[in-house]
Amino acid sequence: MSSSPESSFDVVVVGSGNAGLCAALAAREFDVSVLLVEKAPEEWRGGNSFFTGGGLRFAFRGLDDIRTLIPDLSEEELKSIEIEPYDEDQFYNDMLRVTEYLTDADLCLTLIRQSLPTMQWLRTKGVRWNLAFGRQAFRVGNKFRFWGGLLVEAVGAGPGLVGALFDRATKDGVEIRYASKATRLLADRQGRIAGIEIRGAEGPYEVHCRSVVLASGGFEANAEWRCRYLGPDWELAKIRGTPYNNGDGIKMALDIGAQPFGHWSSCHAVAWDLNAPPYGDRKIGDLFQKHSYPLGIVVNIKGERFLDEGADYRNYTYAEYGRRIIRQPQRAAFQIFDSKVLPLLRDEYRIREVTKAEATTVEELAKKLEIDVDGLVRTVREFNAAVQPGEFNPAILDGKRTKGLTPPKSNWALPIDTPPFVGYAVTTGITFTFGGLRITPKAEVLDTENHLIPGLYAAGEHVGGLFYYNYPGGSGLMAGAVFGRIAGAEASTQVVAVRC
Ligand SMILES: Cc1cc2nc3c(=O)[nH]c(=O)nc-3n(C[C@H](O)[C@H](O)[C@H](O)COP(=O)(O)OP(=O)(O)OC[C@H]3O[C@@H](n4cnc5c(N)ncnc54)[C@H](O)[C@@H]3O)c2cc1C
Repeated sequence: MSSSPESSFDVVVVGSGNAGLCAALAAREFDVSVLLVEKAPEEWRGGNSFFTGGGLRFAFRGLDDIRTLIPDLSEEELKSIEIEPYDEDQFYNDMLRVTEYLTDADLCLTLIRQSLPTMQWLRTKGVRWNLAFGRQAFRVGNKFRFWGGLLVEAVGAGPGLVGALFDRATKDGVEIRYASKATRLLADRQGRIAGIEIRGAEGPYEVHCRSVVLASGGFEANAEWRCRYLGPDWELAKIRGTPYNNGDGIKMALDIGAQPFGHWSSCHAVAWDLNAPPYGDRKIGDLFQKHSYPLGIVVNIKGERFLDEGADYRNYTYAEYGRRIIRQPQRAAFQIFDSKVLPLLRDEYRIREVTKAEATTVEELAKKLEIDVDGLVRTVREFNAAVQPGEFNPAILDGKRTKGLTPPKSNWALPIDTPPFVGYAVTTGITFTFGGLRITPKAEVLDTENHLIPGLYAAGEHVGGLFYYNYPGGSGLMAGAVFGRIAGAEASTQVVAVRC
């Protein structure tokens, strides 16, 4: 095992996704030397963060807060939008509600309170923000109304976000090594982090450092761990993003006594095109997802509904509904729409790489989708008969529901009666896993006895305890940025303190 002078840094960050990049940039603010190691080759840099739509959830009090992120909003744009404030209490209530009140209060409140300041900080690092008109707003009358607490996305989506952070990291003097896999944490006899073992093109070597920030993602791309922790059939799920997130950082930390924490048997998973490749495709990004199901119905291969498509805004159901699909026969589901709602479908329904059928009757549609014809015809007939009167409005929880149907459709229930009928075939696409390491609100990793492991920090998908069962859309990038920034700053503060 070799080590050389260049193999000594103050802080080593593992993983070049959003969390790792934020950690590296925050660390450089303290004028410490920072090495960022990335297992993937350069053309796969940016991890899952690259694949995202770049939407981040943060608490804000009104338009003045939004203007701090997008100062060049024109008067015309301002007149055309309707934005409700989304304050810290609302964000907290959403986190509590969707996680069945299990989210760790200290971590969750840190995420929420640091969300707007971190968005503003990201802007100072070169990230540019946009209003998410295409995905998070519906036009009602002459106004775009934003819904579901999520309204800002990075210009250029995930590639734009990580691209800006990489540019800044290079400018700020972060040394980045690609195709360099972190394999082992090195600790001294007191248990303090002393370095890390890396496997690069030339073989393994050690880097000495005072602090390590682990930001190398969850274990979603590790089929054996998925099966072990998430359960049967999870090895068959498609991976929405990078093939490189195999739980390495979590394992390295557990190996030196870190405490596992959070919902290890759960994950974020969505409806994903049935014929998507096994891993993410960097040209397609997140467009294999199919998230307009609140406008139609979802059936399995028998033609039977199995979830409430209108239980809530898609931001609060989509991350959970992918897990329901894996329990259906052949792990398949079919989203059925009629022509009334087709113009409202999100952009991802209009890509060339989509598994879709169109027909003038429901029978014909079922045949084309290869699902049970009688089952689908019966389901649509019963569904249509159960739809209650009321005004359909996709931008609010309109309460236009079904009656006497199991499962119900609680909002946006329109009869499926106007051809052409269109169906999209989907399966389960896993996004990231919820189980991880226990950290403090300062991103310090705790051991199994609740003591700090000095010099060890974690951020991003590594963090256990924030998400249980479900997740409010846009919280993953936000959590990565908040705890990445904190981890980088804390790791450096410690180095600076030792120097003084
Ligand atoms: C298709 C898709 C769309 C999404 N859309 C959104 C969205 O719009 N909004 C949102 O909030 N969230 C979204 N998410 C979730 C979001 O991607 C994650 O919450 C977030 O990006 C995780 O960031 P991270 O830095 O922890 O991990 P990542 O971005 O995955 O980065 C981890 C990095 O660590 C590297 N690595 C792994 N092991 C090692 C090792 N041993 N040594 C060195 N490097 C290693 C990996 O190669 C990877 O580059 C989406 C995810 C996907 C897949």
